Amino acid sequence: MLSLPIKSPSGGPLSVLAIGAHPDDIEIGAGGLLLGLAESDLRARYVVLTGTAERQREARDAAHSFLPGADLSIELFDLPEGRLPAAWGSVKEILEGVARSCSPDVIIAPSPDDAHQDHRTIGELVPTVFRDQLYLAYEIPKWDGDLSRPSVYVPLPVSTAQRKVELLHKCFPSQRGRDWWDDEVFLGLARLRGMECRARYAEAFRCAKTVVVPAAFTPDPPREGS
Ligand SMILES: [Zn+2]
Repeated sequence: MLSLPIKSPSGGPLSVLAIGAHPDDIEIGAGGLLLGLAESDLRARYVVLTGTAERQREARDAAHSFLPGADLSIELFDLPEGRLPAAWGSVKEILEGVARSCSPDVIIAPSPDDAHQDHRTIGELVPTVFRDQLYLAYEIPKWDGDLSRPSVYVPLPVSTAQRKVELLHKCFPSQRGRDWWDDEVFLGLARLRGMECRARYAEAFRCAKTVVVPAAFTPDPPREGS
């Protein structure tokens, strides 16, 4: 097993774009990864497509809590929850607007294979808008039982896995009453993914396309118009 460090090809701060359909998606799917990335120089952009005023406050608090010290910008939208397939054009316009104003190194977003229609809509659109990024599609445990076979693992130190769960409880009080919202679900999945990559805990992602470059190679720039 070869570990590939995540670092900016420019040598500057890593630039990450995190996209969620709902407040809490990003943190459930990739909170541990974000806590780890925030320990180095990081420029982060948070985009959440739906949310009431209360849930948007939670999203804002969570972004700051999971990315302490990052150069952070947050954009919150209020598209209709549960109906993003019908708002396909608006989702695409929002993502295209983000793409015009930044070119992140890494995108963390829902998976096109996700059973939730809002997650899936974003997952299907991300690769149509962003074509030059590492796209890590996170997983969210849910009633539908749609967990699939990951292709990328991020081992988490025990303290990070525990901190992630602490912050989920602290940042999203509106969700605490849900029957699935508990330590066992979050740490159980992390333990399972950890076992799969020979760690105690891990987060797992799907990555449809990865480009690897030998250190001695300097790739030629793409031809004009390609
Ligand atoms: Zn969600």
